[in-house]
Amino acid sequence: MPSVEIIAIGSELLLGLVQDTNSHWLSKQIAGLGGELRRVAIVGDVPEAIGAELRGALQRRPDLLITSGGLGPTADDLTLSAVAQALELPLELDPRALEVVRSRYAALHRQGYLADPHLSEARRKMAYFPRGGEPIHNPVGTAPACLLRVESSTLICLPGVPGELKGIWTESLQPILREIFGAGAYLEVTLRVDCPDESLLAPLLTPLVERHPDVYIKSRAKVFAERMQLQITLSARGGERSQVQSRIESALGEVRRALEAARLRAELEEG
Ligand code: ATP
Ligand code: MG
Repeated sequence: MPSVEIIAIGSELLLGLVQDTNSHWLSKQIAGLGGELRRVAIVGDVPEAIGAELRGALQRRPDLLITSGGLGPTADDLTLSAVAQALELPLELDPRALEVVRSRYAALHRQGYLADPHLSEARRKMAYFPRGGEPIHNPVGTAPACLLRVESSTLICLPGVPGELKGIWTESLQPILREIFGAGAYLEVTLRVDCPDESLLAPLLTPLVERHPDVYIKSRAKVFAERMQLQITLSARGGERSQVQSRIESALGEVRRALEAARLRAELEEG
């Protein structure tokens, strides 16, 4: 199963001004592709902190390492220079990235969003890439993302603006994601159980969790339509969809039988 780590970069995240929704969104995407997200770190806009986190992550050799944030034109956007420094690569103006930036500003100018399409120093800054970095098209914003192969890992630096990060992931990165994740499958089903007390479930679920190590069985309390219910989500991933499905079905059958024996009513959640 391909392994993944995320480094969310931004001092605003550590100050509590902005919630790190990018990692949350990416975690679902990665699970959906059959990848295993092993670690999410948040660091401020501090080159040494970014560098230390990058080097630590690369030592663990994840198949994919994603950073979010710090690709923009402002002085506190330091991600690519921190990557260059951490990997001892020169940071240089990439003509392909410059062309991406130029054409984005020209288009924004044509569409009437910008008075001046001129490539100022701040705008050119977004085209400085660590040597070997490949610019990735940003269909939403102006800063191209950067892809860099580091030994067996693929490092992808994405912008922090959630719409841009999602746009690049869903539109531009698909071929690379297929290359990394192959045709992996992820499935989940959720049961809603009428049960006022989660502690009643623990003795039922514990032996099933042990018997099905390939299926992640997680219960959580929730109030639905003023009824106290619990959700039990079973999820699994693997190379083949049919194999993942049969694992889930086998565990689900046992969970349903255990609930029935305890006279707890359960129904499958739609969608
Ligand atoms: P920009 O070109 O806008 O400067 P950027 O890649 O430099 O993009 P940041 O400056 O780090 O990104 O962040 C831009 C905005 O995106 C932040 O103000 C914040 O609102 C949002 N943002 C950044 N990181 C995250 C995150 N991890 N989760 C959610 N929102 C984020
Ligand atoms: Mg910025």
